[in-house]
Amino acid sequence: MKYEAVIGLEIHAELKTKTKMFCSCLNNPEEKIPNKNICPVCLGHPGTLPVINKEAVRKVLLVGLALHSEIPRYSKFDRKNYFYPDLPKGYQISQYDQPLCKGGELSLYLSQDKEEAQKKIKITRVHLEEDTGKLIHSPDKKYTLIDFNRAGVPLMELVTEPVITSGREARLFAQGLQLLLRTLRVSEADMEKGQMRCEVNISLRPIGEEKLGTKVEIKNLNSFRAVERAIEFEIQRQSEILERGEKVIQETRGWDSQKGITYSQRKKEEAQDYRYFPEPDLPPLHIWDEEKEGGLFDLEKLREELPELPWEQKEKMITDYNLSPVQANTLLLDNNLLNFWKKVIEILQEKKVFNNKISNLVSNYLISDVKGFVETEKIEWEKVKLSPVSFVQLMILLEKGKISSRVAKDILQEMIVKGGEAESIVRERGLEKVTAPEQLLPLIQEVIKENPKAVEDYKKGKENAIKFLVGQGMAKTKGSADPKVLEKLIQKILQESNSS
Ligand SMILES: [Zn+2]
Repeated sequence: MKYEAVIGLEIHAELKTKTKMFCSCLNNPEEKIPNKNICPVCLGHPGTLPVINKEAVRKVLLVGLALHSEIPRYSKFDRKNYFYPDLPKGYQISQYDQPLCKGGELSLYLSQDKEEAQKKIKITRVHLEEDTGKLIHSPDKKYTLIDFNRAGVPLMELVTEPVITSGREARLFAQGLQLLLRTLRVSEADMEKGQMRCEVNISLRPIGEEKLGTKVEIKNLNSFRAVERAIEFEIQRQSEILERGEKVIQETRGWDSQKGITYSQRKKEEAQDYRYFPEPDLPPLHIWDEEKEGGLFDLEKLREELPELPWEQKEKMITDYNLSPVQANTLLLDNNLLNFWKKVIEILQEKKVFNNKISNLVSNYLISDVKGFVETEKIEWEKVKLSPVSFVQLMILLEKGKISSRVAKDILQEMIVKGGEAESIVRERGLEKVTAPEQLLPLIQEVIKENPKAVEDYKKGKENAIKFLVGQGMAKTKGSADPKVLEKLIQKILQESNSS
């Protein structure tokens, strides 16, 4: 390709606070009754005054601290004026030239590729504003209803520098940010529910050229897959236009996920004039100061509140717990599984049986067997009866060679559904691996007697027949025999009977 893509992202996330940004209405994204959580303030009635939600400011600052942004001493809110039916005041309270967080960076730490995971995406700013209401169009398009429950919900906006070069990078960035927001408990950031929304700015330029090409904006991207696919489509579309010697039009495009294409929504002749000016109803924010009492927050204390960040967790999983990057990602992206895994590791360490081998065993079984079974059977996590203690018992039995992997897998599924203690299940049902020849020999005699055809086949040279006989033997012991021992013994007996 002769062109390179220059991509920047604008990501909005609804903050998880008790109340809205400037009033005491509940911030409840799950509210089903329209226009329930509203009041004169968030409806923009004349004479009302907004009050800043300190918790929302705190949450954005936490994000900024995690991203190593600069937190300025002072900040303020501004009015962004435009008319739209979902915006009751006729303006949105946002931040213009003094955002809460300036600069910062986020690496593509979720990449499984070591080098790519190191790539840092520069962030321009993170600021705080209020969300709009929701328009609900009737199916016949004859009328539109407005629900103001979402109007005035605190909304964080993060803008990156135009340093992303592919759809894949954009997806990794957005996924990494989502996990950060969840780890910080700042936002649920569910894209399908509109709690996290992505907009893409993309232009192409010939490789080696410094000047930026014409920028296109893509909206309505409600999944990570949509972000990646829309960018890949747009790179293709724009390079074909440039290839033909034509010009890319500056415009806003939507994404049609069914057809897999972007489509023109509105042409932008020039940037819209929002006539920003400082919000006269709110005082400027004095965020912090060297003086202890000066400012809303003590930044050092806030920094101490940061939990272990997802990239730090991942690093630990790989270096201390011997997980592959793929395994670490799977755990990080599944909070229930992650918490289960953490408890399991804790128990192993308490029991002083932690080592790399059992660590691998545990993560393999958790990711392929537990997660796999829970997902295919569509079991909700709250209903999983398997306890970390019992899981550890099972893994120790397996690691010591006391049970076969077949038995382990069967019991595991049973414990997920019904619960129970691994050790007592194995003991009560006599599922310990049988390796002693004297215990296996009578059973092998039975198998040979019952399957003359397979025995005949084996004697004729069909090597595969032995697998069938081993299978029969395993069935007789309900999977508790050691298949390798079993195979050797059957082979030995058949060879002996052959030579005699
Ligand atoms: Zn309100």
